[in-house]
Amino acid sequence: MHNKNSSKNSVSMNALSLAARYAEEYVADIRDRRVSPSRVDLDQLKQFNAELSQAGQSAEDVIDSLHHYGSPATVASTGGRYFGLVVGGATPASMGAAVLNAAWDQVAVLEASAPSAIHLERIAANWVLELLALPLKSSVGFTTGSSMANMVCLAAARNSQYQKLGINLAETGLSGAPALRIIVSEQSHVTVYKALSILGIGTQQLVKAPCDDQGRVRADRFPTIDETTIICLQAGNVNSGSFDPYEEIIPLARAVGAWVHVDGAFGLWAAASPAKFSLTCGVQQADSWAVDAHKWLNTPYDCGLAICRDGHAVHTVMTTQAPYLQAGVQVPPKDMVPEFSRRARGVEVWAAIQEMGPAGIAAMIDRCCTHAQHLCEGLAELGYDILNDVVLNQVVATIGCEDDVQKIVSAIQEEGVCWFGTTVWQGKTAVRLSVSCWATTGEDIALTLASIRRATEKIIVS
Ligand SMILES: *Cc1c(COP(=O)(O)O)cnc(C)c1O
Repeated sequence: MHNKNSSKNSVSMNALSLAARYAEEYVADIRDRRVSPSRVDLDQLKQFNAELSQAGQSAEDVIDSLHHYGSPATVASTGGRYFGLVVGGATPASMGAAVLNAAWDQVAVLEASAPSAIHLERIAANWVLELLALPLKSSVGFTTGSSMANMVCLAAARNSQYQKLGINLAETGLSGAPALRIIVSEQSHVTVYKALSILGIGTQQLVKAPCDDQGRVRADRFPTIDETTIICLQAGNVNSGSFDPYEEIIPLARAVGAWVHVDGAFGLWAAASPAKFSLTCGVQQADSWAVDAHKWLNTPYDCGLAICRDGHAVHTVMTTQAPYLQAGVQVPPKDMVPEFSRRARGVEVWAAIQEMGPAGIAAMIDRCCTHAQHLCEGLAELGYDILNDVVLNQVVATIGCEDDVQKIVSAIQEEGVCWFGTTVWQGKTAVRLSVSCWATTGEDIALTLASIRRATEKIIVS
């Protein structure tokens, strides 16, 4: 036990320091390399196809091949010029915390199984509630992302609405239960549909609320609501970044007893910025919220939070009881999310918030929004039509015909200075840029606009 020099231990020490060295090299190089891997780099992935050795390999050899063949074929999403999806990056403290957290290897089931990790997760949970101005007594479950957070919150919504009808779903199941009225937005994220489907709610059962040209649900055309309705709103449309009119819908919905869930995967972080807070006004009145840490809070993957005003509603759905599971006074993590064993991903949330502080987080949100504004201005100068009101970190713009847009984006991706993709917005094929990485600088935006200019001038013959 005290033999620190046992061969097993020293081998893993070498693997750890090797991994740390490679990780440092990787991070040091990230701003200067291609954003997407080159063909040659992708080709090298073939090296992993060799036959598995019966006897295995040394830990160092394993780490070596990961770095030599794996690292070059990554997407440099942490480097500041990746604008696809909504990815964020990983702040230095949260990345470092992830490394230490891996060494801890705690299982966040019960307090007794992970005392420090769960303590840190609880602090992080409270900080997130404060930063987002959500009810401080809400339950917070750490999930893999907003997909799972949507599912957790909607499971709580579903069971609690059925409870009102005298139906205990945990006992009787869905079969024979009357369909609830479920209202989604025409612009609800695909993962909301997935969550509902997993919960036994099919697309034909959904009522779709019409949206305006920014993708916000229209309060004046909102479907009727009853006391067991579940409503899915969103904070931050995945294309336009727009916000639903919470103040017009949520009070009416809650007055009749409907449950309002908000998918705020990235957009809810607007509430952490005094300058952007007004976009979220009234969202705090909802019943549940899904939000990611791995997107705009810039923690490493994977981490989302399922937040529910009525913690009891979540616990009744997620609870697991057995004589060997002695919980403390507080609800244990295993009773707030679907997973039983899981990694203590909230440790990285704690680290990111401790590192940046509320002022640093607000500054990061504002900085991303300012970069988005500059992208929008630069695109307009190049002759693009900007298709959304750039209220947040998202820019959707188009030029020429559909084929031109595709060709321009391919040329940009090929060049490798930056990366973003296309979308279809309001029936038009468009470029879609999302600025969500803490590391993005004004220079990155200038380099990106220069790359867009080169590709646009090549494709669009004026
Ligand atoms: C990314 C996203 C999701 C899904 O979140 P994951 O963390 O990827 O599971 C849901 N809704 C919106 C609006 C998103 O942007």
